[in-house]
Amino acid sequence: MYYKSTRDSSVNVTSAQAIAQGISKDGGLFVPSSIPKITFEDIKAMGDMSYPDRAAFVFSKYLTDFSDAEIRYCVDNAYTDKNFDTKNICELAQLFNGTYMLELWHGPTCAFKDMALQILPYLITTSSKKINLDKKVVILVATSGDTGKAALEGFKDVEGTQIMVFYPVNGVSEMQKKQMTTQEGENVSVCAIKGNFDDAQNGVKAIFTDDEVEDELSNNGLMFSSANSINWGRLAPQIIYYVSSYAQLVKDGKAELGEKINIVVPTGNFGNILAAYYAKKMGIPVNKLICASNSNNVLTDFINTGVYDKNRQFYTTISPSMDILISSNLERLLYHICGENDSQIREWFTELSDCGKYEVSDKVKAVLKEEFFAGFCDDKQTKACIKEQYDKNSYVCDTHTAVAVKVYEDYREKTGDNTKTVIASTASPYKFSNSVLEALGEFDPSMGEFELVDKLYEVSKLTVPKSLAELKGKDIRFNDTIDKSEMKDFVLKSLGISK
Ligand SMILES: *Cc1c(COP(=O)(O)O)cnc(C)c1O
Repeated sequence: MYYKSTRDSSVNVTSAQAIAQGISKDGGLFVPSSIPKITFEDIKAMGDMSYPDRAAFVFSKYLTDFSDAEIRYCVDNAYTDKNFDTKNICELAQLFNGTYMLELWHGPTCAFKDMALQILPYLITTSSKKINLDKKVVILVATSGDTGKAALEGFKDVEGTQIMVFYPVNGVSEMQKKQMTTQEGENVSVCAIKGNFDDAQNGVKAIFTDDEVEDELSNNGLMFSSANSINWGRLAPQIIYYVSSYAQLVKDGKAELGEKINIVVPTGNFGNILAAYYAKKMGIPVNKLICASNSNNVLTDFINTGVYDKNRQFYTTISPSMDILISSNLERLLYHICGENDSQIREWFTELSDCGKYEVSDKVKAVLKEEFFAGFCDDKQTKACIKEQYDKNSYVCDTHTAVAVKVYEDYREKTGDNTKTVIASTASPYKFSNSVLEALGEFDPSMGEFELVDKLYEVSKLTVPKSLAELKGKDIRFNDTIDKSEMKDFVLKSLGISK
């Protein structure tokens, strides 16, 4: 199995090269040259496997240049009950008859990004060894909250890596700030930037592409890599839980082997739902992939009309991890469905960067309609959905997951489709206690972050994730706030190579 670039089909690299490099030199994203298949027998056999074994099986189809021992090393270090609060790694809970919540937030930071970021450091360091780079990997992350913490937890104390996270000083929640500034580990740094998320992001990009910095790093046996969802090493681990959840439904007698299911995903950068698309193309029987957005509904419009137009108002919502107007992983989907036509992709994405807009062909529009259903809801509907699910099904959704549940209810109403359904539950409600309590009519503005957690426990009786409860007593380790112009010096100083 080789990997091509979405902007140059003649690129042909191994998975280790794709993962170590992160993004192709032509600006395209790495995609598998063909999508490997799994059979019904494979699915049946997976039912009796542990999550790490299921993961190893799926990885063996995509990382064909990795040895079995290398794959085992990665999955066994990542998917253990030291890192996740359940042996199953993710859970499948019934919302109501025939509809299941795939809970992807049992990892150390209580959001689904842990499913990939717990294993990514091992995939990157193994890849870099395999291709004889033998350099220490330096990860730079600009974060609006969730990704930074998940990357810190994944990379902390992983040999051969160092990680630096920059966040906008007033752009993250108190809980997110506390999660990051108390981060443990000897190879981590966290720093606030005076400015917004874009300032942090632009600063990181400038350092990534600074030749002087690259030379300095190289002279010191270091190299940059990316923990962003453009890296194939973040996408591949996400395919696993869709395959795994289907195998589990069959094993538990909740679905017949071969019976189709719908998959609903609250979507931002299009990474998570793209992983579900890959699972379908591998052979998991899927009817519709349901793409749920918040008020930033650029994807809803795109799937329904074939016109991608980011020239629109940006909304700050109660589901912040979905507040996105450019969904980078869409490029991978379009590459596959337009017949791997790299010149077509270059044309559309040049239009996107020049005018913020492109329109796909009628053929692609037809495929989008066939594979996907798309819908969106605003904050008010999101809150109403949290309340309704709590009252009706005694299930407490976080704000992102509630968007998915609401769009799914709209889909059922519109189509009358009663196909069994798996909904991706992407964060623990405790991560967004404030909005969840507001939705339940229990919010008290005088309460601090941890009192709100206690309050949500009182209301929901859901176990408080240990990692969040423990934050309360932790010391702040990082309280630097710097100007954007000082980021480069900060990076060099943290690496011990400043002049
Ligand atoms: C990142 C995130 C999403 C969006 O996932 P994408 O892969 O970017 O589409 C949804 N919910 C939560 C809680 C997230 O952290």
